Amino acid sequence: MDFELTEEQKMVKEAAADFAKNTLAPRAEEFDQNEEIPKEIYQDLASLGYMGIMVPEEFGGSNFDFISYILIMEEFAKACAALEISISVHNSLVCDAILRFGTSEQKKDYLPILAKGGKIGAYSLTEPGSGTDAGSLRTSAVPKDDHYILNGTKAFVTNAGIADLFVVFVSTKPELKSKGISCLLAVKGTEGFSVGANEKKMGLKGSDTRELSFSDCKISKMNLLGKENEGFKIALSLLDPSRIAVGAQSIGIAQAAFDEALKYSKERVQFGQPICNFQAIQFKLADMATQIDAARLLVHRAAYIHSQGVRCSREAAMAKLYASEVANRVVNEAVQIHGGYGYMKEYAVERYFRDARVTEIYEGTSEAQRIVISRLLLKD
Ligand SMILES: Cc1cc2nc3c(=O)[nH]c(=O)nc-3n(C[C@H](O)[C@H](O)[C@H](O)COP(=O)(O)OP(=O)(O)OC[C@H]3O[C@@H](n4cnc5c(N)ncnc54)[C@H](O)[C@@H]3O)c2cc1C
Repeated sequence: MDFELTEEQKMVKEAAADFAKNTLAPRAEEFDQNEEIPKEIYQDLASLGYMGIMVPEEFGGSNFDFISYILIMEEFAKACAALEISISVHNSLVCDAILRFGTSEQKKDYLPILAKGGKIGAYSLTEPGSGTDAGSLRTSAVPKDDHYILNGTKAFVTNAGIADLFVVFVSTKPELKSKGISCLLAVKGTEGFSVGANEKKMGLKGSDTRELSFSDCKISKMNLLGKENEGFKIALSLLDPSRIAVGAQSIGIAQAAFDEALKYSKERVQFGQPICNFQAIQFKLADMATQIDAARLLVHRAAYIHSQGVRCSREAAMAKLYASEVANRVVNEAVQIHGGYGYMKEYAVERYFRDARVTEIYEGTSEAQRIVISRLLLKD
């Protein structure tokens, strides 16, 4: 088996690590405290090609492969998980959705400006009453002449306050339930479309999360992504890559927490010696490092299969499930190794602890991943 990255992938990883370390990490605490990522950061990201990571060059993107994308996400999450999730949604749930399901007009209209950072994307599937059971969503889109009339509320939309373009899932035939869902591109500023206040969150505080409301909002049929009533298939097909990306985010947070814990254990002296001399601490470090490596292998395996164009729902769910649970175990141990200081805001592990929690919740909860994995195991 070949675990070696290509020369290009190594270069992409190194460049992302440099940018993350020098530009993102020093400001991660500020983004967390201000609960905001300044918009100019997105221009810096765009100038380095991170707003169109997998977008082909003909549309102004970087045309990197999926494995490179995953490597970039891990490096970004290591520095600032809030910024990483924003970029991940923009790239894999918006640019990729348009690339895979858009008409040539939609690609021409939206991809170049998204890749240049002139527009930021958001993705809206969840509603106040439908999360895990996404197929029961109720925001209605009634066809009328050359447009749809939308009514309803969407929940927990990452990037909502800074986004210009929204991939929105709506019900066009409620009687068909998930088979009557369509996917529309909604542009901010459209009459009847409003965005709520930024949610107060436990972690990923720099990332923007809001509700969307549609009240008799007219959206042109030209903005239908894919076919009418086939939107749920789009949502499902975007899940595998985005779950792998959450796996990469989880490894990034876990690695950052581990690095801090290792460093601290060499510096902190108790009973006249560094605490890393105690076997209790050494075993924690050994377990943390082993689990991070195992999680990374699962994430890279899923990324490799996906990059070959092969369906990888089981591998993606396993990678996301394991990596997110490892992240939570590792941040917990990192706080423990820091003792009381780990509970204080001046140490980064306090932020990692809060940021890691959501990786077990979004893009399908751990329970949902276990349902997917067991269903696929029992089907074989
Ligand atoms: C910070 C943040 C950002 C987000 N960003 C986005 C975004 O950009 N776009 C978007 O569309 N969504 C987004 N989400 C929503 C996210 O994907 C949902 O929160 C997630 O899918 C879970 O849905 P829920 O919160 O409604 O929980 P529920 O579905 O109500 O689940 C509650 C509990 O019940 C369990 N449960 C549910 N069904 C079953 C079952 N059949 N068997 C066993 N257990 C079950 C769940 O595992 C969970 O423990 C975001 C969420 C957060 C917190």
